Amino acid sequence: MLNNMTQNDLDKFAGKVLEGAQFSDDELRELLRINENEQLEKLFYLSRKVKDHFFGNKVFLYSFVYFSTYCKNKCTFCYYRANHEINRYRLSIEEVRNICRALKGESIHMVDLTMGEDPYFHDRPENFVDVVRAVRSELDLPIMISPGVMGNEVLKELHDNGANFLALYQETHDQQLYRKLRVGQSFEDRVNARKFAKSIGYCVEDGILTGVGNDIESTIRSLRGMEANTPDMVRVMTFVPQEGTPLEKVNRISSIEELKIIAVLRLMFPDRLIPASLDLEGIPGMVHRLNAGANVVTSIIPSDSALEGVVNYDRGAEERHRDPKSVVECLKTMGMEPASQADFNRIVGLVA
Ligand code: SF4
Repeated sequence: MLNNMTQNDLDKFAGKVLEGAQFSDDELRELLRINENEQLEKLFYLSRKVKDHFFGNKVFLYSFVYFSTYCKNKCTFCYYRANHEINRYRLSIEEVRNICRALKGESIHMVDLTMGEDPYFHDRPENFVDVVRAVRSELDLPIMISPGVMGNEVLKELHDNGANFLALYQETHDQQLYRKLRVGQSFEDRVNARKFAKSIGYCVEDGILTGVGNDIESTIRSLRGMEANTPDMVRVMTFVPQEGTPLEKVNRISSIEELKIIAVLRLMFPDRLIPASLDLEGIPGMVHRLNAGANVVTSIIPSDSALEGVVNYDRGAEERHRDPKSVVECLKTMGMEPASQADFNRIVGLVA
């Protein structure tokens, strides 16, 4: 499709995407099959052009607070799955407050409160509501929650107490693959939790993994699955095999696949939030992801932080270069900068 396109043709193509052009499965297949550099560059040029139309050189930054690494589930891809004998932690409210205090005045647009499905919070949701309230009282920023699947009443209460965004990744919309990844967990419950959250005013994020047994057809099913649920933010992350888990022997694929899917997501979801996670390849990886069409930087943590990430490319490192200042410095070298808080608040529906 992009093979013989000149720059002029690409600009016209971007114009069609902005006018609402939809992609057929055959077209998605063709884009996902690209593996030659010149065509990849054309794909990234297109996705940046579309992103720039909506966001210019502005980027949103999310601070990541993985406040409990306990989990009752056994997802085969995950380092934090139950029964994996690793060091775990659960932050106290005071520790969460201290993190919030350290974030004051930093270039952060939203705080992402993430946990495994920790029974301490899932069996007593009021404990989680207290965490959200504490963050709300410390910081005047939107709050994303990534708690796994919680019931409708709890989601409502969390929203009433200050949660604005629900991140709940399906990982795949290919049901066969889902059963192998999220072992013993309901596919529908996840979809329905996002639907319910959206219906009561949350913004929602869905996400998929790549390099975890998904072929192109499976990826297309996932893209269509995400499309059907109209998320406000769409994510793809490369699967990184984790020692001591059932998928530890899977070969890690090149991050080119993730970059390609980011670009395709940008073409399918032109005006949505698409993250460049620091958790896989730090700031150098962020640059590639932003150049592929992402417009949000996630997994930002203070340089002296011992907080866990999901993949944690820098687990155990003494200094971790994914703090807000390092991110902003790098953005400047790319001709980009943090967006205003007012712009972000408009996206999450917090209009002054
Ligand atoms: S992916 Fe989430 S729900 Fe699954 S085992 Fe890991 S922390 Fe638990």
